[in-house]
Amino acid sequence: MARTAIVTGGVRGIGASIAKALKAAGYQVAATYAGQDDAANAFRQETGISVYKWDVRSYDACVAGIAKVEAELGPVDVLVNNAGITRDAMFHKMPPEQWKEVIDTNLTGLFNMTRPVWEGMRERGFGRIINISSINGQKGQAGQANYSAAKAGDLGFTRALAQEGARKGITVNAICPGYINTAMMATISEDVMQKHILPQIPVGRLGEPDEIARCVVFLASDDAAFITGSTLTANGGQYMG
Ligand code: NDP
Repeated sequence: MARTAIVTGGVRGIGASIAKALKAAGYQVAATYAGQDDAANAFRQETGISVYKWDVRSYDACVAGIAKVEAELGPVDVLVNNAGITRDAMFHKMPPEQWKEVIDTNLTGLFNMTRPVWEGMRERGFGRIINISSINGQKGQAGQANYSAAKAGDLGFTRALAQEGARKGITVNAICPGYINTAMMATISEDVMQKHILPQIPVGRLGEPDEIARCVVFLASDDAAFITGSTLTANGGQYMG
């Protein structure tokens, strides 16, 4: 039987590529989103992938949403924690709300999504948790104290949980993308791109969402059973720490 995968934030950007790649690899896929119904419906029509709407900041919403997915598609074998936001500001101008929103989504969202699938994975003796962190969780980034803290927290979460899941057939890994060619990057001017961003990337280009999706498909596969607690860096050589 096909394995079931949930991709949070799976209807746009990197998440949409991940959801499509998992479907192409034979998984039954549920793609979640927060609020953009039009994007989600267009994605569902284009791909045939089931979409589900809930807020990863709410534990109760995650429990209910996951129960619905499991009733419709079967127990969750693969969870890709991809949903994430930025609320950038220099720290001296960052209000508490901006800190909280990013921590709640990018860090607590991982607890809220992973906790409800964890016991089932333990019982069945198989699971794959793949957390989409960021280069900026590894190296830090000015203007992103909130985002860098949350994404670094994702790496600690990954390493702790990997130790707990190992004997139960559950692997837990993180991927740290660098600059990826998504709608977010399209808002950056050509001048800034050429002068400030591309010179930082040794391979000389942005990454493509499909390049992150292929990392996910590998980490989800049986071939990756011995890889757990790892951080897969996919940033064109920009940071190697
Ligand atoms: P996008 O902004 O394109 O998409 C984010 C997705 O997450 C959307 O589907 C959105 O839902 C969903 N989402 C946001 N908040 C919530 C929430 N509270 N509950 C449920 N879903 C939510 O993101 P990207 O593709 O750019 O990024 C994906 C991940 O990769 C993020 O974790 C990001 O931090 C990380 N990353 C991205 C990089 C890049 O260059 N783009 C670089 C490094 C890391 P909706 O569609 O309804 O808005």
